Amino acid sequence: MKSFEAVGHYFNRAADQLELTDNMRKLLLTSKREVQVQIAVEMDNGELQTFIGYRVQHDNARGPMKGGLRFHHEVNLDEVRSLASLMTWKTAVVNIPYGGAKGGVAVDVRKLSHRELERITRKFVDEIHDVIGPDTDIPAPDMGTNAEVMAWIMNQYNKYHGFNPGVVTGKPVEHYGIPGREEATGRGVGILSMKTVGRLGHRAEKTRVAIQGFGNVGSHAAQFLHDAQCKVVAISDLSGGYYHKDGLDIPGAIRYANRHQRSLAGFPGAEKITNEALLELDVELLIPAALGGVITAENAPRIRAPLIVEAANAPIHPNADEILSARGVTILPDILANAGGVTVSYFEWVQNRQYYSWGLDRVRQELERVMTCAFEEVWELARERDVSLRTAAFMQGISRVGRATVLAGIT
Ligand code: NAD
Repeated sequence: MKSFEAVGHYFNRAADQLELTDNMRKLLLTSKREVQVQIAVEMDNGELQTFIGYRVQHDNARGPMKGGLRFHHEVNLDEVRSLASLMTWKTAVVNIPYGGAKGGVAVDVRKLSHRELERITRKFVDEIHDVIGPDTDIPAPDMGTNAEVMAWIMNQYNKYHGFNPGVVTGKPVEHYGIPGREEATGRGVGILSMKTVGRLGHRAEKTRVAIQGFGNVGSHAAQFLHDAQCKVVAISDLSGGYYHKDGLDIPGAIRYANRHQRSLAGFPGAEKITNEALLELDVELLIPAALGGVITAENAPRIRAPLIVEAANAPIHPNADEILSARGVTILPDILANAGGVTVSYFEWVQNRQYYSWGLDRVRQELERVMTCAFEEVWELARERDVSLRTAAFMQGISRVGRATVLAGIT
């Protein structure tokens, strides 16, 4: 199943519950605009290379469109399109006044020099500056891009349109960014994991946690859950998995990774396991926080965790989702669980538009408020309608976007 089909699958399941007409489904699923551009740049060796860049603007019924910019050699229109529509439902679930978009450039960043990365970024902005902007579409970092790339985007955009710090989020804190943006997704995952653990009648001290991926999201989620008294028994990254039945020293693991180019390779005091084995551990909470598609129909029957919180985007294949749901596994879906990042991006945009700096305490407090409110609504809807949390989250997102579309007048 292609990624766009997977989003369509979940969309249709929720649309059935909402009894949406075929015409309304088509309207809500179709992107507003899909832009494909040529990015021709001179490389450091003087050679000319041409890359393809995309920006898909899925929906703006609830506000300016918002979504990351991914630089990766496998970027293609289908993937960007599905991620753009996911952003529409995600911003609607957490009820921030945005629509959804996503962008990408098909390029292997590992093969680029710093200067080449900057040239590609600026050239991409030259091609799309007319369709993005603080009131229309606001990019943010994603795979292969970072705060520095966002600073270049702002700088290049400003050359055409004047001072506009709100044109991108995820900027460096020293350059119109906001404190707490980096930790936001992992912290949001931690906050909602604890809410769900509580709703399922478990206690933090009795909750063993396994987390796949120890990058930005995985490490911050691990720290939050460690501080909340959970026992984080397994973590992993590209170098493999690390397990201790009594719980790992998470602050120590973060310090270790920071000292070793963000890698856990050689992390002491833990048993080495594989990434596949980590997913199948006997734990109360499993958090896939690395890649999409890691839980499939093949390994789903062996997953033992009764609760999975989707920190990565689409870590569970739709076939596996059915197998796990039939077994009564609770799944907190990506469009709710990992929405902390876009929520704090929204605070950054508000800060930029108000020319007023927010402090970390305020960011954390507001993040908790927004995430908790969205969680309570989705949990209640799932209970009322006797549907999964994923279907309830999609229903919430789709009905908010649908209502905004109709209220604005379609013709
Ligand atoms: P990151 O690059 O900081 O970290 C990714 C981690 O996954 C690293 O530890 C890496 O070693 C590990 N990893 C990569 N391939 C792996 C593999 N095959 N097996 C096990 N581990 C592997 O990325 P991130 O920002 O932490 O994002 C993680 C996931 O969360 C991605 O799916 C991303 O799309 C999603 N997400 C991120 C944000 C955000 O704000 N950063 C927001 C929403 C969703």
